[in-house]
Amino acid sequence: PPTIGVLALQGDVREHVRALTDLGARATTVRRPEELAAVDGLVLPGGESTTMARLLRTFELLEPLRARVAGGMPAFGTCAGMILLADRVRDGVAGQESVGGLDVTVRRNAFGRQVDSFETDLDLAGLADPVHAVFIRAPWVEEAGPGVEVLAVAAGHPVAVRQGALLATSFHPEVGGDGRVHRMFVEIAG
Ligand code: GLN
Repeated sequence: PPTIGVLALQGDVREHVRALTDLGARATTVRRPEELAAVDGLVLPGGESTTMARLLRTFELLEPLRARVAGGMPAFGTCAGMILLADRVRDGVAGQESVGGLDVTVRRNAFGRQVDSFETDLDLAGLADPVHAVFIRAPWVEEAGPGVEVLAVAAGHPVAVRQGALLATSFHPEVGGDGRVHRMFVEIAG
């Protein structure tokens, strides 16, 4: 099985590690460039994208991570992780850095103007039954390039997208024990 890293600078790392190991994947935390070099794919968890971007810089992971994503490493970003994978970020803090790779424009805290957090059942392309999706100060996708497949929509905006080996969700599939979105990523990384 592939070795899947979970970026472990901040955010809901344990939930992702559990979701991956429950599927029989090999999961390992990534805090150092050597650890990044050893994984076949990487999960970027939810948390706070501004903090994570700052820590990526501090831990000297930002450039290596950009290089690996540009080189085709499978990556799966949830919520803040989606923001980090996005090429363009709206409502970011001044100078907010990004890993990039995913040809989308995301808006941070997009649902926040209506409601901070909510849960809903979503149809997701490739899954037979809806997923229970937990949104917490979530971003949405405002623009997506031609190579981006929209897998799910909420409030009229894409909230799950795939571009080649990159997968991203606005919501938190690591919460609630439904492993199907993680399984999708493990298959991409395998
Ligand atoms: N609002 C957070 C950010 O902008 C993301 C929230 C989350 O990951 N649950 O980074």
